[in-house]
Amino acid sequence: MAEPKKLYIKTYGCQMNVYDSERMAEAMGGKGYVTTDTPDNADMILLNTCHIREKAAEKVYSELGRFKPLKKARPDLKIGVAGCVAQAEGAEIMARQPMVDMVVGPQSYHRLPELEEQARAGKKALDTDFPEELKFDHLAKRPKARRAPTAFLTVQEGCDKFCAFCVVPYTRGAEVSRPVARVLEEAQDLVERGVREITLLGQNVNAYHGGAEGGAWGLARLIRRLAEIDGLDRIRFTTSHPNDMEDDLIAAHGDCAKLMPYLHLPVQSGSDRILKAMNRKHRAADYVALIARIRAARPDLLLSGDFIVGFPGETEEDFEDTLRLVEEVRYGQAYSFKYSPRPGTPAAEKEAKMVPAEVASERLQRLQDLLNRQQFEHQQAMVGRTASVLFEKAGRMEGQLVGKSEYLQAVHVQAPDSLIGQIAQVEITEAGPNSLGGRLA
Ligand code: SAM
Ligand code: SF4
Repeated sequence: MAEPKKLYIKTYGCQMNVYDSERMAEAMGGKGYVTTDTPDNADMILLNTCHIREKAAEKVYSELGRFKPLKKARPDLKIGVAGCVAQAEGAEIMARQPMVDMVVGPQSYHRLPELEEQARAGKKALDTDFPEELKFDHLAKRPKARRAPTAFLTVQEGCDKFCAFCVVPYTRGAEVSRPVARVLEEAQDLVERGVREITLLGQNVNAYHGGAEGGAWGLARLIRRLAEIDGLDRIRFTTSHPNDMEDDLIAAHGDCAKLMPYLHLPVQSGSDRILKAMNRKHRAADYVALIARIRAARPDLLLSGDFIVGFPGETEEDFEDTLRLVEEVRYGQAYSFKYSPRPGTPAAEKEAKMVPAEVASERLQRLQDLLNRQQFEHQQAMVGRTASVLFEKAGRMEGQLVGKSEYLQAVHVQAPDSLIGQIAQVEITEAGPNSLGGRLA
C-alpha cells in the first residue's frame, strides 16, 4: 500500500479557524493525507491565517519564507494559504511568493481537494469566492475515529454588523447559518465518537437563524434541541453580539442545565461616543442592563469580553469610561487589544485621529491590570468550592489530569487516566491567575 501523504497545517487566530483546519484535514483525508505536526516531512503545508489584527499579511509572508528551503529540497511539496489573509490578499500572495501553489478563502474549503489536484498538475490554484452553497455541507464527513471529549462545531459564519474596526464582514462574508438538521447530525456524530462538550461557533453565533421545517430556529431553540442528545453533557457558544442576546437565549441560561454558565459577550468600549464611532449600535448602559438581566437568569454566570483600546479619537475620559464599565460588570476572563487599523475598514481612514502608540500601550496595560485582577478574584473565589470538571487530557505532572470547570477554568487534579472524557466533582484547593488545582471529591 502507498504511504499516506502528510499534511502540515498551521492555524492562526480564532476557534473558528481551529474548526476549519480540522475540517480541511478531514477533507484531505479523503485524498490519502494524514496530518503531521512538523512541516519538515510534509507533502502539503497549509497556513490557515487570521487577518484580525496587526501585520497579519506580513507575518504570513515571513512564515512562507521559512518554507523556502523545504520547497527547494522537495519541489513536489505543495504549499497553500487559507483563511482570512488568503481572502484579503488573493492572487497577490502568489505574485509576492511564487512558491505558493494554492490560495483558498474561508468559504471555499470544500474545494481544497480539487485545488490540490490542480496544484499537483502544476497549475496555480486560487479560490476566494463566496459561493452560494455552505462549505460545511460539501466537506467530507468527519471520519468515525474516536475524538477528544470537547469539540467545536461551527453553526454560523460571516457578519453583517460592520463594526468600523473589523475585517470579518469582508473576509468571511455575509452572515449565514447552517441548517438545523446538519448541525444536529454533526453533533450526534461527535457524541457517538466520545465528545461530551460542544462549543457552537460563529462570528455572531447568537444571530443564528438556521433553516428548519416550519421556519428558522434561533440559537436558544437549537441549544435546547441539542440538550436532548444523550451523552452530550455540556453546551457552550461563542462569540456573541450584545444586540442579538434575545430573551429566549437569556432564559436558556437560567433553565437549560447543559448550557454552561459562561458567556463571552464583547462590549469593546465603555464610552458611548466611541461605541457610536465603532458602529456598535448599543450604548454602555444597554450592555450593563443586559448583563444584569442575564445574571438574574443565571447568577453564577462567568462573564468574558473583548475590549479595544486606542480606537481613533479615544480620549482619556473615554478610556476611563471603559475602566468604569469593567469595574461595574466584573469579568471573570477577558481579551483586550490595542486598536489596529485594518485596510478597507472605515476606521482605518481616520488616520488623523489615531491615538499615539505609547498612549494606547499605557491604556492597554491599565485595562489589563484591572481585568487580570478581576480574573484572579474569580479564580480565588473558587477555592473551597466543588467544581464539576470535564477531564480532557494528561497534565504536565505525573499522574495529573487537566480539565475544565463549568466556568471554563482550567483545573489540575491528581486522577487516573480512566477519567479522561468523564465529568467528576473536584474540591478546589488552590487558585492561580490562569488555572485551579484541586482533589477529586
Ligand atoms: N464578532 C465578535 C464581536 O462582535 O465581538 C468578535 C469578532 S473578532 C474575531 C474578535 C475580537 O477582535 C473583537 O471582539 C475585537 O475586540 C478584536 N478586534 C477586531 N478588530 C480589531 C482591530 N481592528 N483592532 C484591534 N482589535 C480588533
Ligand atoms: Fe467584527 Fe464582531 Fe463587529 Fe461583526 S460584530 S463586525 S465580527 S466585531
